[in-house]
Amino acid sequence: MSEYQHRARKRFGQNFLHDAGVIHRILRAIHAREGEHMLEIGPGQGALTEGLLNSGAQLDVIELDRDLVPILQHQFGMNPRFRLNQGDALKFDFSQLEAAPHSLRVVGNLPYNISTPLIFHLLSNAALIRDMHFMLQKEVVERLAAEPGGGDWGRLSIMVQYHCRVEHLFNVGPGAFNPPPKVDSAIVRLVPHEVLPHPAKDHHQLERVVREAFNQRRKTLRNTLKALLPAQAIEAAGVDGSLRPEQLDLAAFVRLADKLVEYTEQTQPA
Ligand code: SAM
Repeated sequence: MSEYQHRARKRFGQNFLHDAGVIHRILRAIHAREGEHMLEIGPGQGALTEGLLNSGAQLDVIELDRDLVPILQHQFGMNPRFRLNQGDALKFDFSQLEAAPHSLRVVGNLPYNISTPLIFHLLSNAALIRDMHFMLQKEVVERLAAEPGGGDWGRLSIMVQYHCRVEHLFNVGPGAFNPPPKVDSAIVRLVPHEVLPHPAKDHHQLERVVREAFNQRRKTLRNTLKALLPAQAIEAAGVDGSLRPEQLDLAAFVRLADKLVEYTEQTQPA
């Protein structure tokens, strides 16, 4: 097997799982089943891939590192339920997988440097996705799963919770990986809402309000949103302008974004 030996590459964020107990626990949390359509991002040397395929599911994988392609093909290429897509998951067109609505189950022990943009790229295809299970840096999972009122609540929590229910499942220490990363990791489950609990009139305006509000998280909303909305409009949205952004829940940010849509329509020249 020496011809297939692979050296972990830092630039691809390669920290390979080698702890059988942790791998088993992750697979149990995912609970893939026969007939399901799974998508694994960054299969690496196949630590999770084997268990996913053994479930009887159909499995697409996307791997960026060309050197891993022969290793993965050698190990799994004979299985008709396995399909390898070599390329960058950040640029991948998920519609080419021809998944039925709300069917795709996405999993991955993600390279930490691409995890946030990748989650947003996947959320732009949320209608295809049934659920996602990711290994991420623990701090990122804490931010994803945060509740209003604390220091972890911010842009990432709000924009992801707009689309998904978030569950922080369990933590994983550096020793489970080879080479060990410098940070703790955690497994998160994201389940896209079939019906959005707080739909915004314009998603782009929601992004704008949230970005502005958290640009200076220690200031009051009246202050940080000054350039977007006058104080009366903030109050008319049912929001106390003397609060700081971390005190507002998702529903309140959606009301501000909807107010911004109204306000922009009123103040734009016809
Ligand atoms: N799943 C394997 C495991 O658990 O041992 C590998 C995990 S390793 C943290 C991340 C994997 O993602 C590596 O195989 C790396 O080459 C791959 N990768 C990095 N950037 C990627 C990208 N933009 N698109 C797809 N795969 C990527």
